[in-house]
Amino acid sequence: MSYVFPRHSKARYPVACGGQGAYLIDRDGRRYLDASGGAAVSSLGHGHPAVVSAIKAQVDRLAYAHSGFFTTEPSEALAEHLVTRAPEGLARVYFVSGGSEANETALKLARQYHLERGEEGRHHFIARQQSYHGNTLGALAVGGSVARRAPFQPLLMPASHIAPCYAYRHQAADETEEAYGLRAADALEVEIQRVGPETVAGFIAEPVVGATAGVVPPAPGYFKRIREICDRHGILLILDEVMCGMGRTGSLYACEQDGIAPDILTCAKGLGGGYQPIGAVLASQSIYDTIAEGSGAFEHGFTYIGHATACAAALAVQQTIETDDLLANVRRQGTALREALDARFGNHHHVGDIRGRGLFIGLELVAERASKEPFDPDLKINAKIKQRAMAEGLICYPGGGTADGRRGDHVLLAPPFIIGPDHIAELVDKLGRAVDGALSEAGM
Ligand code: PLP
Repeated sequence: MSYVFPRHSKARYPVACGGQGAYLIDRDGRRYLDASGGAAVSSLGHGHPAVVSAIKAQVDRLAYAHSGFFTTEPSEALAEHLVTRAPEGLARVYFVSGGSEANETALKLARQYHLERGEEGRHHFIARQQSYHGNTLGALAVGGSVARRAPFQPLLMPASHIAPCYAYRHQAADETEEAYGLRAADALEVEIQRVGPETVAGFIAEPVVGATAGVVPPAPGYFKRIREICDRHGILLILDEVMCGMGRTGSLYACEQDGIAPDILTCAKGLGGGYQPIGAVLASQSIYDTIAEGSGAFEHGFTYIGHATACAAALAVQQTIETDDLLANVRRQGTALREALDARFGNHHHVGDIRGRGLFIGLELVAERASKEPFDPDLKINAKIKQRAMAEGLICYPGGGTADGRRGDHVLLAPPFIIGPDHIAELVDKLGRAVDGALSEAGM
């Protein structure tokens, strides 16, 4: 008998009891290669001694002090670590407990920034059809999934959603990637004109789309054009790096690779690497100054802002990534994993696309490669893959129902930054069996 309210009432989950490096271990001693870091969380893997001892040392000294009374050494040190490595202009950090809270905070920060400037009418947010920003009401409102929003629609603030930058599905045959990137970005200009530039507070997007579509990197030049459009209209650019940030793509911040800096950047997941729940909102100096010199207070706050133990854990995770030169390993192993996946699935009749950056890789599954026709969602291909992968001792993150904002199946891979060639061989081998087994079970 379990008293836990589970994600799915019919699911029977194994009990996770241990973690060692890239592996999770259940109560029966079964080992699972954690090839998705849960949901792109466990960037350092499990049981890292440096992080464990940093947490113990912090709890020994001080576990928690309320941010309305104190600041703490770990929150100050972590904020400095993040800002001194951040894209130009990001100058202040607001700590929260996870990704949804981070995006919720970003939306309210953007709104208050405009209010402080006397721009009362700016309350509309534009986002993308192919996105996930969290499950709290504000974050859900800007998220791209119609199905997720539908039951809660009466509770959600109005927001609009433009087409994603999704070359596999939308790039025309006679179009270069660059031309497609600019065309996709111009959808933002069209939407701004439709709703009225003076009503728009911000545009929110994931630099590399994560779980909703199986890792979709932007076309070259897409975000530079997005930045120009936002600047032209005084609209804040909010980048959600909750999944793709903190080194996952091979650079600490994913947007570095697109050569732009946002006004607000959110991160979580890999920030604390799963050792503690923590998220962060990085804001530009000008946003900070506008509020500091205006009302003087951001009208927001949570009990666990800048939680000392969470910040100490995240700092240890981030310092380890640097001292062990793990971003170089992300790039090296990311290339090796892509090559191994290309070798195994490159000619697979039902793998339409293999894409990603660093150790953030997606496989899009299709009924037929030539037509790119997705599978019938009733076949539940992704659920079958997940089940078979678990039986193989592999954790991957299959998703479905939302490729191109509608339907489709994909597998998301986001293994810990510490993996090596043996892990890659095991991953590809087990994934191959899980995918082929699921397809044959579905009669393919
Ligand atoms: N933003 C992105 C891009 C995510 O992938 C997620 C979670 O998967 C979130 C926000 C929400 O984060 P959390 O589940 O920590 O609230």
